[in-house]
This record gives sequence, C-alpha cells and structure tokens, in this order.
Amino acid sequence: MPGHPVFLLRDLDARPFPGIPLAVLGHPIAHSLSPPMHQAALLAMAREDTRLADWRYHRFDIHPDDLPTALDRLHSGGFRGLNLTVPHKVLAFDLVAEVDPAAEAVGAVNTLLATAKGWYGTNTDGYGLNAALRERLGADLAGRVVVLLGAGGAARGAAVECLRRGCARLVVGNRTAANLAELLALLQPLAGAIPVLGFDPADPQARAGLPADALVINATSAGLRADDAAPLDLADVPRPAGIFDMIYHPPQTALLRQAAALGIPQANGLAMLVHQGAKSLELWSGVPAEAIAPLMASALALRSP
Ligand code: NDP
Repeated sequence: MPGHPVFLLRDLDARPFPGIPLAVLGHPIAHSLSPPMHQAALLAMAREDTRLADWRYHRFDIHPDDLPTALDRLHSGGFRGLNLTVPHKVLAFDLVAEVDPAAEAVGAVNTLLATAKGWYGTNTDGYGLNAALRERLGADLAGRVVVLLGAGGAARGAAVECLRRGCARLVVGNRTAANLAELLALLQPLAGAIPVLGFDPADPQARAGLPADALVINATSAGLRADDAAPLDLADVPRPAGIFDMIYHPPQTALLRQAAALGIPQANGLAMLVHQGAKSLELWSGVPAEAIAPLMASALALRSP
C-alpha cells in the first residue's frame, strides 16, 4: 500500500524509526488496514494536539518464530505501542511482562504498551465488537440471546465479551465438533449463571431449534473468499434480531446477503476494526476512543448511520 511500506525484522537494525513509533505485527501483513487507519487518525489529532505530530504507525511482517526477538527489539528501539494480528495474538500472550484482566480471560493480546517492565498487554477486540454492535445494529449484549458462529480466536474473544457483558444465553455453533467442545469447556468456568450451549450448524434440526430474536455473530472465517458458503443457512432458523459478520473484506458475505434478502438488520466487521483500533490508540495517546473512532471511520470511508 503506498505510503505504508512493509518492514521486516532486519529493518530495525538497518534504519531509524524516528519520533514516537507504533506498529502492527502480523504474518502476512500487507493486507492490513490498520496503518492507513491509525496514521490518518494521528494526522487529524495532531492538528489539535502538537504532541502527536511525530507519531508514526508502521507495519512489520514478522514470522511467528521471530516474535520474541521482534518484541524485544521493538521495545528497546523505543516503540511506544504495538497491535498484533494473525497469528501473533495468542503467541504474544506468553511473551509480555503484564496482562490486563480482559486479555487474561481471552488468552490473547492484540494491543501492547511499552512500560519500564517490558510490554503491557491488553485486548481491545471485545470492546470493538460491543461498540460496533451498538453503533451498527443498536444492539446491547447485556440481556441478549446470542448465537455465535465459530470456535477460533475471534469466537473466543466474542464469547468472553458476551459473558462479561451479561448476555442472557450464549449458543455456539462450529463446523468441527471437537473445537466446539474445547471452547465450551473453556467458557463454562466464566459463565456463572449464564447458560452456554453448543449446536451443529450443519444439522437442520439444530438450526430450527435455535432461539428466535437472537443476535447472530459470525466469528468464523467462512466468507473471507468471495465464493464461500455462509456458515449458517438462515432459511430454516427462527428469525434473528440481527446479524453481525466480523468479516469486512469482502464487505458483503453470503451470510449478509441472505440476511439482507430476508430483511434482517445486518452489519459487517468494519466498525469493529475501527473501534478496536480507536481503543488501542486511546491506550497509547490518552485521547478517548470515542473521539478517535470517527477519524478512523472516515479514513476508511465508513459513514456513521
Ligand atoms: P481462526 O482460524 O482462529 O478460526 C476460524 C474459525 O472459522 C473456526 O471456528 C473454523 O471452524 C471456522 N471456519 C473456517 N472455515 C470455515 C468454513 N468454510 N465453514 C465454516 N466454518 C469455518 O480465525 P479467527 O478466529 O482469528 O478469525 C475468524 C474471523 O474473524 C476471520 O474472518 C477474521 O478476519 C475475523 N476477525 C475480524 C475482526 C474485526 O475487527 N472485524 C477481528 C478479529 C477477527 P473449524 O473449527 O471447523 O476449523
């Protein structure tokens, strides 16, 4: 992407990163929207707050084997904050000096802040999901019946957020039964009195037995490819209140197309990307996420409803 080169670990020795550097680490990373989104917000914020004038947000392609070295080098190299994306969120959890309680429950970190002790890790994905649901679907997780699709890292984060916010019931469906069972076992100790159940999305009877008026959240990667089938056929599901698909590229998945055809309110994952990013930049800059999010949204040409 022009203006946002992809750096490698060796670039840390080869060139300076002046000012206050921030970065996102991933493998691959070329597709990430975080650099243009953060840099546009920083430019706009610096017009009112000159302290931010020399803050720069970079991207690094870091192989998972190199993550421990990269985190050390970025800390000693004066980087103030990092975002982590696939496949680093779980790996980094064990490499940071401190973890906040939100990230502890998820077992993954997506945002790091440099401290005297090393890296402080937190996870802003849950915040991003909750803010996006409110903004795009007018939906609160508190008291809500949620049907969650997926059992990977994103589903785990979403499930913990649903439980933390006091959803009424959480029903999780996943293609591979063993992965579903593993997630359900992990969630039980966090659930308290909230019922947490599993279902097989491929089973028509299980689909027909899903609760009506639920908020359906897709946290699978089914839909990332344009020809992917939807992870849940909505045709025989009792009418949901809304569908949120964490995928934002492509902007409309088969699941969202089906929801639109059935007249069910629906939203893709772009607003989640914005709000998790705004919460990260809040941690690094002290500027409230609510003030940052519109700047990031307009950088992504996302219009508020
Ligand atoms: P993981 O690889 O950890 O998990 C993938 C999940 O998708 C598994 O549950 C897997 O099921 C399921 N899955 C994959 N392919 C299919 C398919 N063809 N049909 C049905 N289920 C399938 O990925 P993550 O949890 O990290 O990410 C999941 C999605 O969430 C990605 O699309 C990612 O882009 C998105 N995301 C969006 C964010 C945002 O800010 N908007 C933030 C984080 C993630 P199985 O167990 O059967 O393999």
